[in-house]
Amino acid sequence: MKYRILWFIIVIPMLTGCWMSNQLDSQNHHNSGKDLSPKEVEGPYLSSLNKEITVAAIGDLLIHSRVYDDAWNGENYDFTSMLEPVAEYLEQPTITMANQESIMGGEEIGLSNYPQFNSPFELADNIKKMGIDIVTMANNHTLDRGEQAIDNAIEHYEKIDMMYTGSFKSEADKEEIRVIETTEGISVAFLSYTYGTNGIPVPNGKDYLVNMIDRKIIEKEVNKAQNSADVTIVSYHFGQEYQRTPNQEQKDLAQFTADLGVDVIVGHHPHVLQPIEWLEGKDGNQTLVAYSLGNFLSGQYELYRRIGGILEFKVSKETKGESNIKIHSPSFLPTFVSFERSGEMLSNIEVLPLKDVDDNQLSNASGYFEEMKKHLSQNVDHLKFIE
Ligand SMILES: [Zn+2]
Repeated sequence: MKYRILWFIIVIPMLTGCWMSNQLDSQNHHNSGKDLSPKEVEGPYLSSLNKEITVAAIGDLLIHSRVYDDAWNGENYDFTSMLEPVAEYLEQPTITMANQESIMGGEEIGLSNYPQFNSPFELADNIKKMGIDIVTMANNHTLDRGEQAIDNAIEHYEKIDMMYTGSFKSEADKEEIRVIETTEGISVAFLSYTYGTNGIPVPNGKDYLVNMIDRKIIEKEVNKAQNSADVTIVSYHFGQEYQRTPNQEQKDLAQFTADLGVDVIVGHHPHVLQPIEWLEGKDGNQTLVAYSLGNFLSGQYELYRRIGGILEFKVSKETKGESNIKIHSPSFLPTFVSFERSGEMLSNIEVLPLKDVDDNQLSNASGYFEEMKKHLSQNVDHLKFIE
């Protein structure tokens, strides 16, 4: 079933003067998680000729024990202060998506670190509050802690009304393509696939637990998504760890996906940023490709693994008879995971816009900012950087 906002749910509280967007948490109806401004609410009553939304994507949330240890405040886990410096960039876009690399199975099965991660539920609560609308779950760590961790994660996402894709609780759940219908009248579908699961076999007859990269299945699901939404975004967990440029396998799969007419490809797994580009599909369509968005929040130490970012792009819908969808104006905010380190302990972890990092936090910060701009835009003519 598609996630739709029913207008009467929105209009009635407006008329009665008690507008509360968080009332829209019914399982079958989904809003973008953002407070809807009066202008946005008026959307359907305005001319339907031109609509525009902003979509944003962040890379890996990879929660090492040194990250959740720093989030522990004596009572519970709280990642808010880590993400606060970038909160406005997560909140502002109409839709923001994140890759939840470490499975969120919660404390009841025991939190754990690399190589078999398990993260606390509070992270989901915190990112939801900060404006993340959907998490992609198909990663090489999805099966790290077995079926129980997946069940727990999904149960918690459902509880807080966080949309998820790439890992499912049943075949029927997997069949339901995730679509966000925005108040602007633009619908966006999300698919997510991984290259593998760290050698952990998928339990027999339970392929729905994690979406693997399989071109036949991808083609089928992309077709379904394209019939359900204006825009289709495919997330791939692929590539070589720590490689700063995409390998041939990534390029081939991206071209295959562009040929299917997918609008945007969001990649992750290498833990470092890889260049952004446009690919032309076989029908002449343009596909925006971010091969790897790097780590957004992790406990990795090496410099390039601490630089990630927020990809943003606009989606315009022009309706003159037939609807015409255009993805345009990609922009990027490079980010940096700042922390103080003492042995294997980290403290004061913060995700900062790289543009705001000073030389005490990272020596030659402005030099790295310039380097990232060049690196990301080497294959694209117009990539704006948020400065
Ligand atoms: Zn990975």
